[in-house]
Amino acid sequence: MPSDIDLTNDRPVYVIGGGPGGLAVAAALRARGVRAVVLEKSEAVGASWRGHYDRLHLHTTRKLSALPGLPMPRSFGRWVSRDHMVRYLEKYAEFHGLEIVTGVEVTGIDRSADGESWLLRATGGRELTGSAVVVATGFNHTPRLPSWPGAESYEGELLHAGTYRNPGPYAGKDVLVVGAGNTGAEIAVDLVEGGAARVRLAIRTVPHIVRRSTAGWPAQRTGILVRRLPTRLVDRAGEIMCRIAVPDLAERGLPRPDTGLYSRVREGAIPVQDVGLIAAVRKGRVEPVAAVESFEDSKVVLADGSRISPEVVIAATGYSRALEGLVGHLGVLDERGRPVVRGARTSDRAPDLYFAGFTNPISGMLRELSMDAERIAKAVGTKALKAKTRKAKSVKAR
Ligand SMILES: Cc1cc2nc3c(=O)[nH]c(=O)nc-3n(C[C@H](O)[C@H](O)[C@H](O)COP(=O)(O)OP(=O)(O)OC[C@H]3O[C@@H](n4cnc5c(N)ncnc54)[C@H](O)[C@@H]3O)c2cc1C
Repeated sequence: MPSDIDLTNDRPVYVIGGGPGGLAVAAALRARGVRAVVLEKSEAVGASWRGHYDRLHLHTTRKLSALPGLPMPRSFGRWVSRDHMVRYLEKYAEFHGLEIVTGVEVTGIDRSADGESWLLRATGGRELTGSAVVVATGFNHTPRLPSWPGAESYEGELLHAGTYRNPGPYAGKDVLVVGAGNTGAEIAVDLVEGGAARVRLAIRTVPHIVRRSTAGWPAQRTGILVRRLPTRLVDRAGEIMCRIAVPDLAERGLPRPDTGLYSRVREGAIPVQDVGLIAAVRKGRVEPVAAVESFEDSKVVLADGSRISPEVVIAATGYSRALEGLVGHLGVLDERGRPVVRGARTSDRAPDLYFAGFTNPISGMLRELSMDAERIAKAVGTKALKAKTRKAKSVKAR
């Protein structure tokens, strides 16, 4: 049960974002007696999960995806659905008695004039002072749509995967899905099963495809076991594993990747978990094609020079962190816009400013952000306790 000792008095720790990352940090802080206030821009917790497509299930196991202090119920099954995930996040906030303010978007963070705390600016002209700040605004924050030349002249429907819900509107249509990450691969399969007339999948870099589980052993567990091993070793093992588990679909336009599995993870691309893509490609129901280069006369021009005329283009081209506006001026981001610190670590330039959920590891992001939440809470709690002890001593000495 959370303790009720308040170590932060009038200046709480502000946690920006009420997704799994923010809620996990707030719960871990509360368990250590630190008052945490979650600021969430939408009207409810778990906003990103509410917006995901209907058929989405976690590709990490229920047990390895639970946040600190509350397991997910067995009734959710091994692969948790999107709706169950939303329900879990609501329950999580309630169970831990978290202080959450919804409908408040944080627009700026700066050191306060006395240099002792952080000043947050938020919608509605709010100014809030916190003893520490945890940024948990999401790795998948803003849909990234490539600026394809000629896209504005395309007469078909062009949308980002972030707004795709289900195949209903695309039944009977010729659809091109761009990007063969987990989202693109799953949407392509969803479209096939939902009755799209033709589904093509534009691929720039051939993905590593792994089975979600093999003989009951989930791919995530392998990810956890190998994540600290040397990259070359894991690349080699990954190649052997994929050769055994995944058929060669080169004839169908999906050759084996020529890059190492773990080398790609290190570059930020986690393997695609197979939820039907292999079978769909094998049967010719999803047709891999070259990457999209541009749009011309309402046709899509591919990297191999071919031109195709889909009625719908769904860009599963990822998201950006979009942290620049919030913390870019504090010198805490690298050249790719990612925080230079994580977990309990903070930058010398920005003490007491923490980040949760900005890595995309092979071992599962939910598992990883839960661990970071505990680390952050420990660091903040220890610091708050020291400050309180110091204050008590100085009062006693007077
Ligand atoms: C389609 C998809 C499937 C995934 N499946 C898995 C999986 O199976 N297993 C796994 O481990 N991981 C998975 N992930 C990755 C990751 O676990 C999730 O993205 C997870 O939601 C990350 O939690 P988060 O709290 O860091 O970010 P989010 O869930 O994105 O939450 C961020 C929150 O911050 C709010 N916010 C943003 N900016 C502001 C602001 N300025 N002020 C106030 N509030 C703000 C947003 O409204 C949002 O509620 C998946 C990701 C995606 C996109």
